[in-house]
Amino acid sequence: MVEESKKIWMDGKLINWADANVHVLTHTLHYGTGAFEGIRCYKAKKGSAIFRLKEHVDRLFDSCHILNIEVPFTNAQIKKAIIDTVKVNKLKECYIRPIVFIGYGAMGLYTQGNPVQVAIAAWPWGAYLGDDGIKNGIRVKVTSFARLHVNVSMTKSKTCGDYVNSTLAKSEAVASGFDEALFLDTSGYVSEGTGQNLFIVRDGVLLTPPLPSILEGITRKSIMEMAKKERIKVQEVNLTRDEVYIADEAFFTGTAAEVTPIREVDGRSIGSGKPGPITKKMQKLFFNIVKGEAKGYNSWLSHI
Ligand SMILES: *Cc1c(COP(=O)(O)O)cnc(C)c1O
Repeated sequence: MVEESKKIWMDGKLINWADANVHVLTHTLHYGTGAFEGIRCYKAKKGSAIFRLKEHVDRLFDSCHILNIEVPFTNAQIKKAIIDTVKVNKLKECYIRPIVFIGYGAMGLYTQGNPVQVAIAAWPWGAYLGDDGIKNGIRVKVTSFARLHVNVSMTKSKTCGDYVNSTLAKSEAVASGFDEALFLDTSGYVSEGTGQNLFIVRDGVLLTPPLPSILEGITRKSIMEMAKKERIKVQEVNLTRDEVYIADEAFFTGTAAEVTPIREVDGRSIGSGKPGPITKKMQKLFFNIVKGEAKGYNSWLSHI
């Protein structure tokens, strides 16, 4: 269950958690045309701070632009609403979920005239793949479902309906006894997790799949920037599943998953079967950054 907080920001107002409801004929509930974000706020050295708020709000607007949805608020209003939601709930550390969706009105697929609604919820949420997973690594299965192709859906938007693809893969992986799924793209190359980007390490180099089939993760981009500063080489390359099997290290990145080591894929242990040195280094640096304890990364934090 979600750990409930007090208020949810909905269409410009902070209302009680229990009152943040929609009609069953809400357009997005039926057809999935809507977009969301996942953002985290951390307890940092100088008070709570939202990690890469600008990038997340910019991506929410980009997602809506891709879907041709006009957000009835400005970028600055949404940023302020996110901060207000965290503040009013007195949350020191939380996950933040903004969603833009098409409301109740006409029921045909053509949505012109239906209201566009925006909601922002925030609640405490620990390690997405478990405390043991973040410490010791998770077990991953290459799913039988292919990742979305750009001509079928669009991969640069966090589109609500696209997560059917992710939930199918996730439940297949969990039903098979694994923690998480790894998608291949429609050409058979490694793509991403159900809501995480993948990195592997081979011979000291960080490798990550290129953009076409993946969501351009903000954590992924952060890791790439951090690696450059640490003088760790990063390459965006097409990877095959067997290159993942023989990787020295592997990890997932995402706002929810943070930096989660992968210790096994399809029954093959990755490297030593324990989080490797580069994974541990990037994970440690990531948590230092979000807590305001790393030099040179303060521009990534919005103190509230
Ligand atoms: C949200 C998401 C990610 C991770 O993106 P972040 O910006 O790092 O949170 C990766 N893949 C998919 C499919 C996602 O939905």
